[in-house]
Formats: sequence, structure tokens, C-alpha cells
Amino acid sequence: MELVYLEDAYVKELETIITSIDPALSAVQFEKSIIYPGGGGQAKDYAAIEIGGRNYDLKDCKKDDRGIWYVLDAIDFNLQDVAVIRLDWERRYNLMRTHTAMHILCGVVWNEYQKKVTGGNMEPLKARMDFEFEGLNDELVREIEHRVNEEIATNHAVHIKQIRGAENIDELLRTKTNLLPPGLTEIRLVEIENLDMQPDGGTHVAGTAEVGEITITGFENKGRINKRIRLEVRNPGQ
Ligand SMILES: [Zn+2]
Repeated sequence: MELVYLEDAYVKELETIITSIDPALSAVQFEKSIIYPGGGGQAKDYAAIEIGGRNYDLKDCKKDDRGIWYVLDAIDFNLQDVAVIRLDWERRYNLMRTHTAMHILCGVVWNEYQKKVTGGNMEPLKARMDFEFEGLNDELVREIEHRVNEEIATNHAVHIKQIRGAENIDELLRTKTNLLPPGLTEIRLVEIENLDMQPDGGTHVAGTAEVGEITITGFENKGRINKRIRLEVRNPGQ
């Protein structure tokens, strides 16, 4: 299955064909897909799928050793039937904005404080990230929020790169725990120009200004060193 969202996160609607059906899972695979199945902290997409003039609901996304499966509310069509996938674009776009905001936060915290991120999770317009950041306080949080909003407004370009071989990956990953599966030969990197680069399979906006603005809504101590920062994304001035 060709995963179109890895190349172009802005495709909202796609015509494709059904290439596999698993009746037991009530699930299908397509020749090409724009539906992000979830993972890496990014929530899954919602979508409607039209096949033969009828609309099917996407109930879930699953992964097994055969790849990604899209679970539908009914299976009453055939292999090679044409399917039109329509994303819940507002949700997906807000996830792209939020996901990119997390990279910007990560970049600012590394570049200016040399603190490592240890995890994160997001829903549309809401995210949390965990850092090894002993001594984090309200004043630092306000400073970080201000710096993140400055970097957003600078409108850095966001690029996707594929690199072969994992020899140099530890260098790239100096800020993060290496969670990549061993033996991976091709790595997708998401680079925010002059700010952040990390291996990543998610979807992002093309320029940081599309994020809008962020507010850091709070932080919690998860131990003496580990801190959890919560943020929200909104349109500028709102
Ligand atoms: Zn990402």
C-alpha cells in the first residue's frame, strides 16, 4: 500500500482501489492511502470511504505483519472496486499543526536549554511532552512559550527527507532516546529548517506559521527531573 501521507500530508481526498479484504477483521487495504493510522504520538485520522456509491465509516485502523488495515462498518464489495477516501480534514489539519508545534517546542528546549525530550502525545490542538528538565519553573515556561511562538511566526519551512543507512543516526538522535527498530535501512526525517530534525512517520504542516499560536497551559512534575509540559494550539489572536 502506497502511503501518500508520507509524501504529501495535504491530500484530503483520494480515489484508489481495494487490494485486500479481510472479512474476519472487517477490514481492507487500498492501493494507496491518505489515512494516517495512528502512532508515534499522533492520533489516527477519521475518514469516510465511498465504494460503489455507498459511504462506509472507518471504525478503526490496525496493523499486523501484512501492513495497515482499515476497519469498515460493513464489507459488501469486491477486490479491485474503486474507493474514494475522504479525510476529516479539520481534524487531520489540526493534528498536523499540533504535531509541528511539538517539534518546535522540542527544538527550542534542546537548542536553548539542552534538555532531552522523553515522550509525548497529542490530540487535535492539544499536546503534552515530557522532558528531562530539572529546575523547570513558571518563569522558564513563559520564556519557552514566547520563544516557541517566535519560531512559529518566523515560518520555518518543514521538509521531509529519506536517508539510507543508520550509521549516522545516533548523531541525529543526540537529543532523543533511539526508539527506531534495529536494522531499519531507510529512515524518514522531518526537518524544520534551522530548528529541529528527527526521524518521524507522522504528518506535519509545510511551514511553521500554519501552526498559529501556542499556549503552554501547565506543567507537572513527574519526578525530580522529569517534567510534563502541556500545550494548546489556537489561531493567532484567539
Ligand atoms: Zn513529527
